[in-house]
Amino acid sequence: MRFVLTIALLSLYVSPCLWAQLPEPDGGAIERGSLPARWMSQQPKCMEIPEWQVHEYNPNLYILRQSPCTDFEKPFVYLFFGKEKALLMDTGSRNGNLVPVLRRTVKNWLARNGRSSIALIVLHSHPHDDHTAGDADVKAMQDPAIQVEFVPADLEATKRFWGIAHWPTDIGQVNLGGRVIDMIPIPGHSDVSVALYDRNTAILLPGDSLYPGRLYVQDLAAFRASTERMIRFTADKPVSHILGNHIEQSSTPFLDYPVGTMYQPNEHELALSRGSLLELEEALVSIEGRPRRVAMRDFTLWPVGAEFMSGEAEKRFEQRQMEEKAKMWDHSER
Ligand SMILES: [Zn+2]
Ligand SMILES: [Zn+2]
Repeated sequence: MRFVLTIALLSLYVSPCLWAQLPEPDGGAIERGSLPARWMSQQPKCMEIPEWQVHEYNPNLYILRQSPCTDFEKPFVYLFFGKEKALLMDTGSRNGNLVPVLRRTVKNWLARNGRSSIALIVLHSHPHDDHTAGDADVKAMQDPAIQVEFVPADLEATKRFWGIAHWPTDIGQVNLGGRVIDMIPIPGHSDVSVALYDRNTAILLPGDSLYPGRLYVQDLAAFRASTERMIRFTADKPVSHILGNHIEQSSTPFLDYPVGTMYQPNEHELALSRGSLLELEEALVSIEGRPRRVAMRDFTLWPVGAEFMSGEAEKRFEQRQMEEKAKMWDHSER
């Protein structure tokens, strides 16, 4: 009996250290925020959707989403503010034109905080062009109030900035002033994929490696090791949300939108939880290194095979793009 009691007491004592749990009822010191009930990609008229939708998660974290009408990828980019520096993850996809809204958002933050200038670190979740297309514009941004420190999306620059000696096993970090952001190397979707963990809000940003949509896997073994690295990293930390780079999943379980869909009237919510990481790991184990597509409730595992962009698939994609553009820009047929 005493043994049982000891075990019970011991587990009570160690559980907050071993698991990502926080004290009831206030949930610890995580900075809270909110996510929108609907994004503007869920409305059908391109004329009414701004190039970028800015969402204030809380006063020091902004989530910007590119209009579906400028590019079907409609990625998210994330803008964090610390006391000394700001950090932008990704610069958007083709035709994004991020600079005007980025400049406005930073300047509004400066005005609200009675500041005249801030350094802005610009870095990337990974090098794919739907997250780096705005690089040249952001790099060339001339504004006395915003000093851009640009980190190119290549392996050497990424290792140098984050102070990584051993890729992909080391964890990097940057302090923005009262706000530490950790970086976990997660190659697999691409060679230079990274995940960011914001300690203030307990949000994990895994880029294209986990989001409600198609998880394209380039290197299956590396992807599995990276998923396990994220699970280990978060084992003793709270995770409020996992926020990825896209939404391609519909709100119907197990169902994604076809590749190239612009208008997504019933899309899945952006946020996933740490449980999704465990589910992803389970799917990766189940396919035992033999690449095949697996539809899950909230996302689809999609190892990249030769068939992804076959001539037939490409034709279907182009046809879809034409139909989608007609639907959202020209309402005469509706
Ligand atoms: Zn990608
Ligand atoms: Zn992407």
